[in-house]
Amino acid sequence: MSESIKKIAILGSTGSIGKSALNIIESFKDKYSISLLAANTSVATLKEQIEKFNVLNAAVINLEAAKELKKISNKNVKIYAGENELIKALNEIDYDILLSSMVGFAGLRPTLEGIKKGKRIALANKETLVVAGELMQKFFSKYNAELLPVDSEHSAIFQCLVGEKKENINQIILTASGGPFLNRSYENLKNVSIEEALTHPNWKMGKKISIDSATMMNKGLEVIEAKWLFDIPLDKIKVVIHPQSIAHSMVEFVDGSIKAQLGTPDMRLPILYAFSYPNRFCYNQIKTNFAKIGSLTFLDPDFKKFECLSLAYECARIGGLAPCILNAANEIAVDKFLKGKIKFLDIPEIIKIALDKIENKQSPSLEEIFECDRKTRSYLNQKLFKTE
Ligand code: MG
Repeated sequence: MSESIKKIAILGSTGSIGKSALNIIESFKDKYSISLLAANTSVATLKEQIEKFNVLNAAVINLEAAKELKKISNKNVKIYAGENELIKALNEIDYDILLSSMVGFAGLRPTLEGIKKGKRIALANKETLVVAGELMQKFFSKYNAELLPVDSEHSAIFQCLVGEKKENINQIILTASGGPFLNRSYENLKNVSIEEALTHPNWKMGKKISIDSATMMNKGLEVIEAKWLFDIPLDKIKVVIHPQSIAHSMVEFVDGSIKAQLGTPDMRLPILYAFSYPNRFCYNQIKTNFAKIGSLTFLDPDFKKFECLSLAYECARIGGLAPCILNAANEIAVDKFLKGKIKFLDIPEIIKIALDKIENKQSPSLEEIFECDRKTRSYLNQKLFKTE
């Protein structure tokens, strides 16, 4: 890419990653501009962002919310309503970088659109690689699109691998904070409240990913994400608990040497790196004081207590549609937990029901992945919750 101002399209601008990205763009007005902001429903926040950054194109997935935005926004702003129009926007608007930070499976289609246009994809939406990793690998090379991870662990691994040869990797060590329930017994997890599960010790994040961190499904999804992102066999990907979240992940090489990327847990850093790579820009907002942190500790994960982590490894091993079933069932279960309809420990149980019932297939097509996602959701909704 040239040194001119880079145009950025943000999918999920009103979420936690989207807001951090806007904060970065504000600090680097001479380097980045915004060509599109897309959100699901948060019209008021989106309107503020549009005005603050003088954005000319916005997309709102929820049709009612899109109508609302049309009513209240300046007439100069072009508003795309619904997923199909967002796809259209991604085809007609000019941008250099697509920040894919929508939540969940919904991020897959629009991300794919950016890949087809051969853009740099700053990927925060891990589900894209979890459910369709094998296909995405092919698409990235076919369309010559560039993949820069925004997930902090994967950004760390990516940074550790700069200048290294893939065949020299011995293992990838993904760090996990262990979430809010690291020191609770399994027995004690039976009746945890929604608020307790949402309270992450180190990171401020959206609700879905906070629950995924509490169950450690987030780390499980990250294992699958790492497998496809770095094209590494599963048995070379390890998880270690690191409660301080300072070492964002590590790579061990064949000679026994280990590289880690460290820093204060703040998503602005991996976002800036994904935008600026292969450069690094001066940014002094985030400092790390090791003397203040004192000690960094590490321990093995408890696969029995965090069954979701075991399930994710199992699905990664099985391959095919298994990660798609895992992801869809987890999205349904987390949604129901957040609505107070199920208990915390029901989450892995619901996933197991889906994995037992929905048929797997190796090397699925994109259509088969969409169909599997739909089937898994509708099966669970009908069977367990008597809704569509
Ligand atoms: Mg992460």
